[in-house]
Amino acid sequence: MNVVRILLVEDDRSIANSVVEGLTAEGFSVDHAGTGAAALAATGYDMVLLDLGLPDMDGRDVCRQLRTRTSAPIIMLTARAEEFDRVLGLELGADDYITKPFSFRELVARIRAVGRRTVDAPTEGAALDEPVAAQRIGPLSVDPRTRRVYIDGDEVLLTAKEFDLLAFLATDVGAVRTRTEILENVWDAHWYGPTKTVDAHVASLRKKLGSHEWIQAVRGVGFRLEPPA
Ligand code: CA
Repeated sequence: MNVVRILLVEDDRSIANSVVEGLTAEGFSVDHAGTGAAALAATGYDMVLLDLGLPDMDGRDVCRQLRTRTSAPIIMLTARAEEFDRVLGLELGADDYITKPFSFRELVARIRAVGRRTVDAPTEGAALDEPVAAQRIGPLSVDPRTRRVYIDGDEVLLTAKEFDLLAFLATDVGAVRTRTEILENVWDAHWYGPTKTVDAHVASLRKKLGSHEWIQAVRGVGFRLEPPA
């Protein structure tokens, strides 16, 4: 298994040092960036731990910009526990969050949980599922093993959450999934937020799939996946 490379974005030296030291001891490879600008310049990582309170930029802007250049999972480190921030973080493209102060064990558990959902970042002890053939839905191909998506052979780059959402809808093509079902299956229980989160991800997924028709809204119920007519 490859070593998981983590980009830690944290301006607090003492937190950064202890996280780097701890994660390295756990077998991760960790690069440290102390500013938002350094985070945006970094390359070659599988996952990002992003502090929201940075000296040079708003962490939320860093998150938004990272999301445009990488599909690597982003875990936000936040001192603010209000739901507003959690939901906003999710809408900015974060995959998970952890509230400071956190225990090191909690951090590692969260990293492994997020890592299990991304095949490119296998974590120690996280057995990969049996290979499953790519699923074909008309011109769309969804490969749960590599977490890659193609339309007519052209790869569609999705974020981790967009992939999870698409894969969940693809488990039963044509079936209507409620927003609550989607939240429960695609987001962790502690990410539970307003259902407009689902709508935001559906909108970005439709855009990337190139047609609004792929994901149909069933008024007052939820969404279903179907090839455009
Ligand atoms: Ca900070």
